[in-house]
Amino acid sequence: MTMTKAMLRDVPADQLRGRRVLLRADLNVPLEGERIIDETRIRETLPTLRLLREAGARVIVLSHLGRPKGKPDPRCTLKPLVNRLCTLLGGTVRFHPGLTEPEARAAVDSLQDGEVLVLENTRFHPGDEKNDPALADALAGMADLFVNDAFGAAHRAHASTTGVARSVQARGGRAVAGLLMEEELDYLGRVLHSPERPFVAILGGAKISGKIEVIRSLLPRVDRLLVGGAMANTCFRALGLETGASLVEEDRIDVARATLQEAGDRLVLPVDCVVADRIEDEPVTRIVPRDSVQPGDRILDIGTATRALFAKLIGEARTVFWNGPMGIFEHPPFHQGTVAVARSVADATERGALTVVGGGDSAAAAEAAGVTARLSHVSTGGGASLEFLAGDPLPGVEALSDR
Ligand code: ADP
Ligand code: MG
Repeated sequence: MTMTKAMLRDVPADQLRGRRVLLRADLNVPLEGERIIDETRIRETLPTLRLLREAGARVIVLSHLGRPKGKPDPRCTLKPLVNRLCTLLGGTVRFHPGLTEPEARAAVDSLQDGEVLVLENTRFHPGDEKNDPALADALAGMADLFVNDAFGAAHRAHASTTGVARSVQARGGRAVAGLLMEEELDYLGRVLHSPERPFVAILGGAKISGKIEVIRSLLPRVDRLLVGGAMANTCFRALGLETGASLVEEDRIDVARATLQEAGDRLVLPVDCVVADRIEDEPVTRIVPRDSVQPGDRILDIGTATRALFAKLIGEARTVFWNGPMGIFEHPPFHQGTVAVARSVADATERGALTVVGGGDSAAAAEAAGVTARLSHVSTGGGASLEFLAGDPLPGVEALSDR
């Protein structure tokens, strides 16, 4: 379905040379002051930038960064990222601290073949998140080809993602998926639509509430759904088990019970847990069967028997999708269950399974476990990858030209 959309890969180079191309990238990296904590998203969009530059296009880059709420905020300027982009891409990358005003147009007009210009954070403009048609038209007026490489923003209908795509087409131009967008849709599309079996999905993280749609969508498709993290606690309560002082979503116990009934033995819960009475200050931990949690206990990770059980099931899989840590992986020693799962998934890749990880914290956990390079694909889109797997159309993709 999504592959019926037009791709940058299919645009002949002679249609790029000397042309102005508007590239919506996702440069929304985590920052600490001006320091980039994780530059994955910048790196992942480099192939598209290189293709455009080498073809001699005049590239205008758009991106959002952080949550500036529709007005300029110096903490969210793209400037520090442009410096990093220069280094990674090689050569000069120009920056203009504006978006649609006459000075920005002048900067666009002065672009030479093969040059790259980054405009300022699209969310400094109140029209971006409102999908304001006037902003979309102003952006679309800069170019006759729009390339969307911002998979991480594809689940949002904003002026710089969907509005501009539609406006470019209304003017007779085309809107195509960049190389990263294509790769994301390819891997996630294989997981959702044509997984080789057995297909094992692993879900964890803090809350069931944000992921119930994904669970509902994946349940009929998977052979096994392994559940860990605090999400499992809510399921334990649905089974009538004691969860002590653990994180539980009281108002989701009913929906957890219904899901467990529907899923039968396809849904696999942890059989044991790491418990402690606190997270910090040298907690004393115990590993207990899931029916032996005491009133003061907090369940903070999956236990060793669960790690072995999950490893066995992941080991049989031909397709694996993983979202959500198995415990409070940010706080050692509660990272061990997540690391064990990360290693099992990486081992599965080496046996020939297709392995895909989605979600910001999960990607960080894979990185911390040192297995990123041993996975088939780590999605750059947290929310977008989950919405895709929930079966929801992504507005940023829907708005692209048909093939
Ligand atoms: P992702 O970003 O990969 O989609 P989530 O945001 O859903 O993942 O979940 C990550 C969070 O879940 C982490 O902050 C982690 O500490 C938390 N978490 C996992 N297991 C537990 C648990 N047993 N108790 C409390 N929080 C948990
Ligand atoms: Mg998260």
